Amino acid sequence: GKSRLKQDVVYYGKELKNMVMQGRDIIGIFPTAVKNHEFTPFFQPKVDMKTGKLVGFEALCRWFHEDHYIYPDQFIPILDREGLIPKLDLAIFDETCKAIKRWKEMGLTPPRISSNFSRKDLFVPKIESKILKVIEENGLSTDDVEIEITESTKDVEYERLITFVKTLKENGLFISIDDFGTGYSSLSLLHNIDADVIKIDKSFTDMITADDKTAILVESIITIAQRLKMEVIAEGVETKEQGKKLVELGCNLAQGYYYSKPVDYQSATEIINSCDYA
Ligand code: C2E
Ligand code: CA
Ligand code: CA
Ligand code: CA
Repeated sequence: GKSRLKQDVVYYGKELKNMVMQGRDIIGIFPTAVKNHEFTPFFQPKVDMKTGKLVGFEALCRWFHEDHYIYPDQFIPILDREGLIPKLDLAIFDETCKAIKRWKEMGLTPPRISSNFSRKDLFVPKIESKILKVIEENGLSTDDVEIEITESTKDVEYERLITFVKTLKENGLFISIDDFGTGYSSLSLLHNIDADVIKIDKSFTDMITADDKTAILVESIITIAQRLKMEVIAEGVETKEQGKKLVELGCNLAQGYYYSKPVDYQSATEIINSCDYA
């Protein structure tokens, strides 16, 4: 609700505290935490490096528990073991759609916002309908949002992934392949699904200025994206030099601490308000 978002303001700019919780505690309080809207998206800007304009956001989950935020690495592996990731992903997606709805009601035009969907979500019956229902219930259009998926590791999931993407694409959704190049099937995935965006993994961005081989690989990924008429965005850009190198190689879109860390709803509102993000 609204009071929650106000609280976020207090924490913006300060270092977010982290806390280590026991697995069983997390599982025990998870249902109540979901009901109380303790899981909330932070928004990381996606920037066009050439113009400095804001072109999108990625929604990244944070758990506001008691009086502080907990990062996903502290709870995602535990929820994953218990099969609870789909509940989390749908909750974050719903909160993200609600945020977009509020921005539109304020007269703002938020850019497309991507949400992360785990491969585990593919096993939820009718997950595609559930995603579409959330969009509809919030009065949004399918091009207000974007779905991020990582590469599949298992053949059984692979077929399911293909139908998942196909169904959502038919309904007008944007699909991006997250952490591209780190999985087992990057090229075969590009062959089998019609994704819209390739996200170059941070591990490539990290090495791009230091290692020629990485630069060559990244350049090749960019070429593939361009030839397939896909967008390409680099994640984890931390320095000006990395950004410059990416632009030289033909990638204009980026996400990373150099531009902005993920921010709360209030700060994201200010960013949308000021429109360009130089
Ligand atoms: P990801 O999807 O690859 O998200 C990018 C992560 O890199 C985020 O960490 C982001 O804060 C961080 N990051 C962005 N720019 C930089 C940078 O310049 N430097 C560094 N060092 N890090 C940067 P975060 O938010 O802690 O999320 C970690 C992972 O947790 C995500 O990786 C994603 O796999 C998962 N995750 C986060 N939210 C969700 C969610 O709602 N659902 C699911 N299934 N997974 C999520
Ligand atoms: Ca992601
Ligand atoms: Ca990623
Ligand atoms: Ca990554």
